[in-house]
Amino acid sequence: MSNTIEISLRPTDGTLLDQHDVLLLDLDGVVYVGPDAVPHAAEALRGAVRAGRRLGFITNNASRPPETVAAHLRELDVPAADEDVVNSAQAAADHLAGRLPAGSPVLLVGTTGLRVALEDVGLRPTHERHEAVAVVQGFSPDLGWRDLAEATHAVRAGLPWIATNLDATVPTPGGPAPGNGLLVDLVARAAGRGPDVVCGKPERALFDAAVQRLGAQRALVVGDRLDTDLQGARTAGLAGLLVLTGVTGVRELLAAAPHERPTHVGHDLRSLADVHPGVAVVREQDTVSASCRGAEVTVDPHGLRVPGGEAGPDGLDVLRAAAVAVWAAADDGHALTGDDLTAGVRTVTDSLRRPG
Ligand SMILES: [Mg+2]
Repeated sequence: MSNTIEISLRPTDGTLLDQHDVLLLDLDGVVYVGPDAVPHAAEALRGAVRAGRRLGFITNNASRPPETVAAHLRELDVPAADEDVVNSAQAAADHLAGRLPAGSPVLLVGTTGLRVALEDVGLRPTHERHEAVAVVQGFSPDLGWRDLAEATHAVRAGLPWIATNLDATVPTPGGPAPGNGLLVDLVARAAGRGPDVVCGKPERALFDAAVQRLGAQRALVVGDRLDTDLQGARTAGLAGLLVLTGVTGVRELLAAAPHERPTHVGHDLRSLADVHPGVAVVREQDTVSASCRGAEVTVDPHGLRVPGGEAGPDGLDVLRAAAVAVWAAADDGHALTGDDLTAGVRTVTDSLRRPG
C-alpha cells in the first residue's frame, strides 16, 4: 500500500515575499548575532521594504528597550522604527498592567528593557522584595546570585511570578550561552514551583500583538529557533520560515517535533526573494521517500539515503526532502535515532551549498 501526500514544507506561488505583507522577524540569529549583522540580512530587508512589505521585529530578549533595539538595527542599515520592535518585556508588562492597580511595585529581575516596559504601563519596578506585589523575570547578562535569591524568596512567599520567556539559550558570537529559561529554572528549582505566566514565544501573545500593531493580513514569521519562533508561528496560525543563520542546524531540523516544524527553510534572509518548492512524500510499508524538485531522499530501517542528489537553485533541496522524509518516518513510528541520525545528518550536510 502506498499513498502520496504533501506534508509541511509548502510550495510558494512566486517568491516568499510575493505571498506576505508583513514579516515578523526574530532578531538574534536572524538579523544580528550579538553586535554584528548576519551576512546579507540588511540588504534583504531593505529589498523587502522597497517591495512594499512591512517589517516587525519580534524578540523574546527583554534586556534592551525597543528604542535601543531599533537604533541598533538602523546602525546595521536595517530599516526599523522604534514602534516596529515588539518584545516579551512589553508583553509581560501589559499582562501585569491588566491585573495590578496603577503604581503597583513589581520586583524586577531583569534589566533596563524590562524596567522601561514596566514604567511605560504605569507600574513601579523595585528591587525591594518586601514591598513587591509581583515578580517579573527577564533576561539580563548582569543578573547575579543575589537577584536570583531575592526572586526565589518572593516566589516562595507566593507572589505572582511572570516570566518574559523561557529560551534556554541566547546566541552570542562565541556560541550559545545560558538564556532566561535556564535562569527561570534556577529560581523554580530553588522555590519549588514554576512561573505563573510566560509571555514570550512560543506563546502567541507576542505574535498577536505584532499582527495587530502592524495591521498584517498575511504575516510570515521568520526565525532561527524551532522551539520558540517556529512553534510560535504554528501556535499563532502563521507561516514560518526557518533560516539557518542561528541556533538550528541540520540535526535539529531533522529531529523537529510536529508542532515546531517550519513551513519554509532558507539559508538566510536572501531566501525571502526565492521561490520555495514543496516536498512530495510516498510511504510504503517501513520506507518513506520524499522528493523536492531534483532531490530524492529515502528513510528506511537501514537509515537515510539520497538516491537523487540535485540540491537545486539554493542548494537546500536535499535538506528539504530529508527533513520531510525523516519527519514522516518519525510520525509513522520509525524515528531516525542515534548513529543512523548522525550518519543522515552527515550525508545531508555534505549536500548543502549556496551558489554566490
Ligand atoms: Mg533567534
